[in-house]
Amino acid sequence: MEEGSSFQRREEVEIAIVGGGLGGLALALALQERGITAHLYEKHHDLRSDTATAIGIGANGVKSLNGIRSGLSKVMEDAGTYASCLKLTLVNKKGEVRYREQTFEQGEYVSIGWKQAQLVLASYINKDLIHCSHRLVRFESSEELEMARVACPAVAGVDAYFEVTDENTSSLEYIKVVRTKLLVGADGIWSVVRRTIVGDSPRYLHLVDWNAYVPNPGAKVFGGHGEHEIVLLFDEDGETRSWLVDAGKGFSLWILRKLDLSGDLAKTLKRSKGGLGIPGAKARALQQLDGLDGWDDIKAAIKATDETYIFERPIMDNLPIKRWSDSHRRVLLMGDAAHAQYVGPGQGARTAFEDAHQLSILLKEAFSSSEDNSIATAVKKFEELRIPRMIKMQEYAAESTALPALVPEWVSKLTMEEKQKRALECQQWVHSYPEKMLCDPDSTYWK
Ligand SMILES: Cc1cc2nc3c(=O)[nH]c(=O)nc-3n(C[C@H](O)[C@H](O)[C@H](O)COP(=O)(O)OP(=O)(O)OC[C@H]3O[C@@H](n4cnc5c(N)ncnc54)[C@H](O)[C@@H]3O)c2cc1C
Repeated sequence: MEEGSSFQRREEVEIAIVGGGLGGLALALALQERGITAHLYEKHHDLRSDTATAIGIGANGVKSLNGIRSGLSKVMEDAGTYASCLKLTLVNKKGEVRYREQTFEQGEYVSIGWKQAQLVLASYINKDLIHCSHRLVRFESSEELEMARVACPAVAGVDAYFEVTDENTSSLEYIKVVRTKLLVGADGIWSVVRRTIVGDSPRYLHLVDWNAYVPNPGAKVFGGHGEHEIVLLFDEDGETRSWLVDAGKGFSLWILRKLDLSGDLAKTLKRSKGGLGIPGAKARALQQLDGLDGWDDIKAAIKATDETYIFERPIMDNLPIKRWSDSHRRVLLMGDAAHAQYVGPGQGARTAFEDAHQLSILLKEAFSSSEDNSIATAVKKFEELRIPRMIKMQEYAAESTALPALVPEWVSKLTMEEKQKRALECQQWVHSYPEKMLCDPDSTYWK
């Protein structure tokens, strides 16, 4: 497209956030709370096409939310519910069960529909700062910007190119070029920003999920969980896992997860990145439970769910990386774009909230500083604070897939008691946020 043509519009903003998911919205809000204006660009016409899931927000997520905005976790809890109990149930081949329970204080763990969580965050952000129907297609530090940087580092920046589409027809209307001091890629696991500065792609974790977030008032449509309960069922060899969750406001979440060591199951999926209401998804989910004893509750939940509510997806992650920014530290990754991890431990959104909280504190310092390079300095500090933690968490999440190739040999040789101690220590370390950010020197396994 011709530079300066009527098809191209230009604007300048202090900070541009790409992606209106949980991470991008949390950052926009955290910055707004600290008096910094950040514009957010989302490719979809609305903030969220439905993901058919709910998220669990444990202690580190709760503390990050309250650091972003005082009282925010309570607002989330009111829009969803609190969890009082996690029931972990191991089913053996004969359908017999062994059972363990973890309880939570009210306020310690929030369950909320994914979309509801986004709407809560968005409700506080100045509407003029959220730009939907804006798809980032590329970005660059132009020569002009390079020269400006040499002459005056404070005015250096990035040009980000967005395709702006008509929200009714989806046809391309014009290209918006946004010049910004900092471009934050909060554009999720399939991040364009990451592809540009890192160049890698997500990895298939040999697991397939079916999940639905459905109206189930009083658990009368299907059972399997009580009020404020999360029920996790898993088998001895990690082949089948299921969750039944009270997601609040009369909604339940169910998830069925199946191991796909050969990769054959993934080949039967109709869409490589997954999708909602894919024809045949319900039958494929039920087929995974054929001949298995002890899984009646999840079977009942799937049977009671209309196929249009069912999301079918291959489970992916991104490999840990040692740098999340470009060479000038003017483009930065956060959330899933930086550290998408296996969803089993449920830390994706929580750690995106941690990112938003910490980055907003550092950028507040940067914007109050008279130093030329203060934003780049904040980005560097952010990476030093966040990357070592996230590498440990990503590796541990990958390990908990139980895929032999992802479990380090020394871990596979630990006794069951040691493995449990390792898991408990990990939870304690992660939940101690914002203390012990990098590691837990008092632990055996997370030093
Ligand atoms: C089944 C399931 C269960 C989960 N359960 C939990 C849980 O219990 N607890 C937990 O903490 N986490 C959980 N997670 C993970 C969590 O949902 C994610 O880690 C989190 O949503 C990541 O947020 P994000 O903002 O980084 O990315 P996303 O939420 O993926 O948002 C990225 C946004 O960027 C937009 N975008 C992408 N490309 C562009 C572009 N080029 N231009 C403009 N916009 C773009 C997308 O449309 C999207 O809105 C779960 C995930 C799944 C799949």
